[in-house]
Amino acid sequence: MNLILLGAPGAGKGTQAEKICEKLSIPAISTGNILREAIANGTEMGLKAKSFIDAGKLVPDEVVIGIINERLNKDDCRNGFILDGFPRTIPQAEALDEMGVQIDRVIDIEVPDEKIASRLSGRRVCLKCGATYHTEFKAPVTEGICDVCGEKLVQRKDDMPETVLDRLNTYHEQTEPLKDYYEKKGILHIVEGQEKVEDTTALTFKALED
Ligand code: ADP
Ligand code: ZN
Repeated sequence: MNLILLGAPGAGKGTQAEKICEKLSIPAISTGNILREAIANGTEMGLKAKSFIDAGKLVPDEVVIGIINERLNKDDCRNGFILDGFPRTIPQAEALDEMGVQIDRVIDIEVPDEKIASRLSGRRVCLKCGATYHTEFKAPVTEGICDVCGEKLVQRKDDMPETVLDRLNTYHEQTEPLKDYYEKKGILHIVEGQEKVEDTTALTFKALED
């Protein structure tokens, strides 16, 4: 199954992508994680992307389209994949269509704007393995340490309150129109984000079936 997860920053796309990945044994592909990895490794692409990400802006379409094109051509995507954080603009969605990528379902996780700020301010990430946590809703076993790989958790610069509003505006202006785009194709499924991760996961799994 070829899936797209849509939703505002902090809606919980990444967490649900991990759950689907475990359930269906298909890779979860996060453009945000790929970009952060590139920044950590100091690659040319990372250098290019950093200023956009830190400012809460989108990285230029051609950069992320290139990343996705390369990633989807790898063998592990043959039985399906989950796109987390791509597409984020109409031109990115059109690029997927032009690549001949057939999408089966788009799951849109809806969380009201008022709840986004607290979700993002509590978010902690592992820069080594990409795992994400929340100080309140999804705490690691040991405070400040990644359950998966033992690395120290950090707060992303773009999760600081001064950048969050910009990211939300960007989401509403550039990403939300994708709901219409996929609704028209008849493949959009809406999931209301819940307080508890497992409740959202139950709704997400249901959206994979009906
Ligand atoms: P979140 O969904 O929580 O905002 P991501 O990790 O998906 O976080 O993305 C972080 C940042 O990486 C975005 O704010 C943006 O700058 C950049 N980015 C990720 N995916 C894309 C994309 N498809 N197009 C443009 N920029 C992207
Ligand atoms: Zn880790």
